[in-house]
Amino acid sequence: MRDCVFCKIVAGEIPSSMVAETDRIYAFRDIEPHAPTHVLLVPKEHVLDSVAELGADDADWLAELMVLAARVARDEGLEDGWRIVTNVGPAAGQTVFHVHFHLMGGWADR
Ligand code: AMP
Ligand code: ZN
Repeated sequence: MRDCVFCKIVAGEIPSSMVAETDRIYAFRDIEPHAPTHVLLVPKEHVLDSVAELGADDADWLAELMVLAARVARDEGLEDGWRIVTNVGPAAGQTVFHVHFHLMGGWADR
């Protein structure tokens, strides 16, 4: 097991607030939300540190992640608008080096 917070969350060693999952993807609430709805989507396997390492072999899980993100956005009632962000490297604010995507929305509720 890597010393990685998201690997530990996927393994159930660190508690998380699950939103949805598929065979390969886990979605859970960000512990420090930057939007009224802020969900993280990660591949269950620590396949990459960031999208900078993406290759052709990653197409399947990446598509599965994006389809799940759209489903979560619908289920969370974000029809008014949402965004997906992924940070690459410390200069962009990346703090966890297990590739992940931030799904944010819900501003219209405010
Ligand atoms: P990034 O800065 O793009 O690497 O995003 C990492 C995100 O993980 C941040 O928004 C953190 O708030 C979030 N985070 C870190 N630890 C946890 C945790 N134990 N549970 C949920 N979210 C976390
Ligand atoms: Zn990991």
